[in-house]
Parts: sequence; structure tokens; C-alpha cells
Amino acid sequence: MTAQLIDGNALSKRLRAEVAQRTAALAARGTRPGLAVVLVGDDPASQVYVRHKVKACAEAGLHSVLEQYPASLSEADLLARVHALNADPAIHGILVQLPLPPHIDAQRVIETISPDKDVDGFHVASAGALMVGRPGFRPCTPYGCMKMLESIGCDPRGKHAVVIGRSNIVGKPMAMLLLQASATVTVCHSATRDLAHHTRQADIVVAAVGRRRMLGADMVKPGAVVIDVGMNRDEHGKLCGDVDFERVKEVAGWITPVPGGVGPMTITMLLVNTLEAAERAAA
Ligand code: NAP
Repeated sequence: MTAQLIDGNALSKRLRAEVAQRTAALAARGTRPGLAVVLVGDDPASQVYVRHKVKACAEAGLHSVLEQYPASLSEADLLARVHALNADPAIHGILVQLPLPPHIDAQRVIETISPDKDVDGFHVASAGALMVGRPGFRPCTPYGCMKMLESIGCDPRGKHAVVIGRSNIVGKPMAMLLLQASATVTVCHSATRDLAHHTRQADIVVAAVGRRRMLGADMVKPGAVVIDVGMNRDEHGKLCGDVDFERVKEVAGWITPVPGGVGPMTITMLLVNTLEAAERAAA
């Protein structure tokens, strides 16, 4: 069996067109959604990510500002910038690109962002809202994974979902979103014994580890939906995920590619969250 591809680029294109339409409608009523992206230091990967985010905003008609600071920026100065952006009415979403230099307490910076502008969904208020099922901002990557499931008509209700990874930005919120959608959820991590035993029972597997080819074909139930969040480099320096794509696609029912899977969806959901922040501010 050869799995069907869940094309993150195609789905992103559709969703971004919807964002552009809603953005234009909101702008016509006097509010142009605005995103501030703050980058501290010169991490090359972060520079690529922020450029993609700013470009995606421009293409969908959102206003965006990119603030770049040297790695020597003090925590106090960064917090002062976040306070200023919290008070700026033209800015509806604030994203501080991670990782931050080691002398800056990233969690402290995130907690300083107004929860109303927390479009990354990393603030403890957003995490709490997700936990108790209240409206708040969902972290973009797991939110994008949920949209991918929706796009193929996969309703998680009653299904067994296995999430590999328990980070605050991917694994845990992914598990919460699946639970909210009434899946039976297993969360695996580095101390899990016999990972394959769990993944083999899964109707939906989400791999969010950061280790190439860690999910092999013998770990996947035939017909399962496999979502690959991982972003790694293979032995030739090419971008790849956590899933052994070539082999797993022969077993799974649906699979996301890397690149062209979850990556573009993460940026798309950032646009969606920023638009929603602006719509709430304008309401
Ligand atoms: P992270 O904070 O490093 O978390 C990795 C998780 O994997 C941890 O919970 C860890 O368990 C678990 N893990 C490590 N080894 C394992 C093993 N052998 N078996 C089972 N679980 C294991 O990483 P992250 O930020 O969640 O990101 C995960 C991956 O997704 C990375 O490749 C990252 O680049 C990628 N990512 C992609 C996007 C996108 O837009 N496509 C967005 C965000 C992240 P412990 O908790 O026990 O250490």
C-alpha cells in the first residue's frame, strides 16, 4: 500500500487565501492585522524562519514589523520592547523568535507578552486556556497538524493517537488538541519503554522528536495517519523529518512529507492567529 500525501504547501495555499480575504475585509473596516517579529542574535536558522514569517504576512496583506537586535541585547531592554509592543495598537500579534541567547530567560519574555497578542500560543495563559478548553491561541505547529487531519476528513474522535515528544511548544499542546477532539491519547518521550509497542497501536502518529528516521515502517500500523513534525538534516545535509518517509509511506494510509508538510502549516497558523487577534481587538 502506498500512503496518500498530506500536502502542507497546497493546504497552506488554500488557508492563506482565506486569511487574505478576511484580512482585506477587516482592513476595509479600519483594522489591518499587524504582527511584530522580534529576533535577538544572528542564529542562521532563526533568520530564515523570521524572513519566511514576514514574507508570508506581506503576501496575505498583513502588516508586519521585524525588529532585529544583537545577541548582546539585555533582558531588561528586550522586556521593555515587549511592553512597548503590547501597548502598540497597530500590533495584534507578538512573536519573539526562539531560541534566545542564554543570558535571557525565554519563559520570562514569553510571560511578558500580553496574552491577547500571544499568537505563538506559548504564554502560560494560552497553555492554561488550552488545558481547560477555553478560547485562546493554540500553538501554531500542533494547530497546523490538526488542520491537516481535518483536511483529509480524519476525525480523531475515538481514535488512538500517539504523540512522540512532550515539549511545551509541540508535543504537549498536540496531545491536548487531540484529547479535546476526543482521541484517546498516548504521549511518548525519551523515557518511554518500547516506543514501537505504542506506535503500532496508533491510528494517528505525530512524531515531534528531532531525530531523523526514528519512526520506521515496522512501528506503524497499516493505514495509520502519520504526521511528521521533525526537522532534521540527513547525511547529505538535506532537510528531513523524524519519519523514515520512503519506507513508512508503504505502510501508512496518509503521511506528511518533509519539507512541504508541517513546516508551511506552522507559518500559516501564525497568520490565522494574528488575524484572529486583530478580529478580537476590533470586535
Ligand atoms: P524538543 O523540545 O527537543 O522535544 C523533543 C521531544 O522528543 C522531547 O519530549 C523528548 O523527550 C522526546 N524524545 C527524545 N528522544 C526520544 C526518543 N528516543 N523516543 C521518544 N521520544 C524522544 O523538540 P521540539 O521543539 O518539540 O521539536 C521537535 C522536532 O520538531 C524538532 O525536530 C524541531 O525542529 C521540529 N519542529 C518543527 C516545527 C515545524 O514547523 N515543522 C515546529 C517546531 C518544531 P524528553 O521530554 O523525555 O526529553
